[in-house]
Amino acid sequence: MATRVIPPRILKKFRYNTATKPLNAVHPSLTPAIAPPAFFEKPPSVAAEVALGMDDAERLFASVSTGRLLRSASVLHATAVGPMVDLGMWVMKSPLLQSGLPRDLVMSVTRETFFSHFCAGEDAAGASKSIGVLNDAGLRSMLVYGVEDAHDNEGCDQNLNGFLHTVTVSKSLPPSSVSFVIVKITAICPMALLERLSDLLRWQQKDPSFVLPWKQDSLPIFAETSPLYHTQKRPEPLTPEEESDLQLANQRLLQLCQKCEEANIPLLVDAEHTTVQPAIDYFTYAASIKHNKASNPIVFGTIQTYLKDAKDRLLLTTNAAEKMGVPMGFKLVRGAYMSTERKLAQSFGHASPIHNTIQDTHNCFNDCASFMLEKVANGPDSVVLATHNIESGKLAVAKAHELGVGKVKQKLEFAQLYGMSEALSYGLSNAGFQVSKYMPFGPVEMVMPYLLRRAEENRGLLAASGFDRQLMRKELGRRLKAAVF
Ligand SMILES: Cc1cc2nc3c(=O)[nH]c(=O)nc-3n(C[C@H](O)[C@H](O)[C@H](O)COP(=O)(O)OP(=O)(O)OC[C@H]3O[C@@H](n4cnc5c(N)ncnc54)[C@H](O)[C@@H]3O)c2cc1C
Repeated sequence: MATRVIPPRILKKFRYNTATKPLNAVHPSLTPAIAPPAFFEKPPSVAAEVALGMDDAERLFASVSTGRLLRSASVLHATAVGPMVDLGMWVMKSPLLQSGLPRDLVMSVTRETFFSHFCAGEDAAGASKSIGVLNDAGLRSMLVYGVEDAHDNEGCDQNLNGFLHTVTVSKSLPPSSVSFVIVKITAICPMALLERLSDLLRWQQKDPSFVLPWKQDSLPIFAETSPLYHTQKRPEPLTPEEESDLQLANQRLLQLCQKCEEANIPLLVDAEHTTVQPAIDYFTYAASIKHNKASNPIVFGTIQTYLKDAKDRLLLTTNAAEKMGVPMGFKLVRGAYMSTERKLAQSFGHASPIHNTIQDTHNCFNDCASFMLEKVANGPDSVVLATHNIESGKLAVAKAHELGVGKVKQKLEFAQLYGMSEALSYGLSNAGFQVSKYMPFGPVEMVMPYLLRRAEENRGLLAASGFDRQLMRKELGRRLKAAVF
């Protein structure tokens, strides 16, 4: 297949547009020269505070049953206690789980607590019920078939069937109740091949004369600031067997994209470790070129803003796509593999690819969100702001109001993990924005390893559910009083 990438000469022109205002910058419409609408008379985050009503627990949880509120508060309290999480992880990994009775007991307790709080259900039917409950409360769902990485073609084929089935189920549900179907490329292309492809792509970035005969039309994957330390020496070309596996992976993604296109449900590709992310971006952008048309992106990629090169890459890719007339969709996240990334970079004697301070990560997320909101307001692109960070949510709301970006189908979506940040989700939804919950589903045994990895990497996130817990306690207290008096 012919290689057609954007020449480096052109890419150099796409430096990050510093004219893009950060989310907390004052917009010209706020200056006294033009009378601002009443809503913007206050600084953005104060204005957003009013719109989100984050201190009104009764309104925020109006659609949540007392039983669910009670269970949510208890699970969040338990997961906020470090030793409880350690104990849970130890039990789930222990040999106890190999034998009959203890295993059944642990699974049944897990199913009723941790699993039902953070997962949509054990199968598509169970997930549909959870989706219905959320839909009644004004929220949408991103359906995540909770599989692990695949290591061979057989595993990839099995996973593909699961993803295809997820699209079928989503299509059968009330329109708009499912906003996205999520795919992990690591589940439909063998991990070893993703590592090899990433090595080859990195080497081509180091040496543009390095030819990759298998490479399809794509968009820029690396910026000048992108670290390439993972690939120390020139990799061998793909073997015929690897080329054939790559063909199979391409076909799997094509099949999935076509099914999503027919169902008109966008496919959102998750981001993972930097060892395999270049290949994931390559697949995502090649598929975006094929399937994203008019102002309807079917394939969405993910940018992890904890990476120092995130902003540069986002700008390069969106600019190149714009030149090609390809509408892009991006999910912005902070990133979930911080400790792994730091250890890996250290093992290469290289500086961490993660921002040096958490404030730098916050700034990067907010800058990228601002950049994408401007794209959404002025063009065919779409964005998913996937965050539990209340300040980022408020800043984005203020910016969206300022730009006039509202409830336009698929253009702007906020998203939080199912079972997390309920107050922010309901606050954003009450303010008139589209909000989705990221909902893994599958048998407990299959989804638990996925949840454990998430819990291990995101300890801070679980501990930081304090604001939600406080609001839930307040609302439970109010309901109790109302029932008694
Ligand atoms: C819908 C959805 C989809 C997601 N999909 C993905 C995905 O595809 N890929 C992925 O990697 N993650 C994904 N995540 C997880 C996400 O990346 C974050 O781990 C998680 O949401 C926490 O970030 P936050 O924006 O909610 O911010 P906060 O609640 O403010 O959390 C910030 C966290 O950032 C971490 N952090 C980041 N940078 C630094 C730094 N420089 N120094 C110290 N700490 C730092 C800290 O651990 C801290 O806990 C997803 C999250 C959601 C809600």
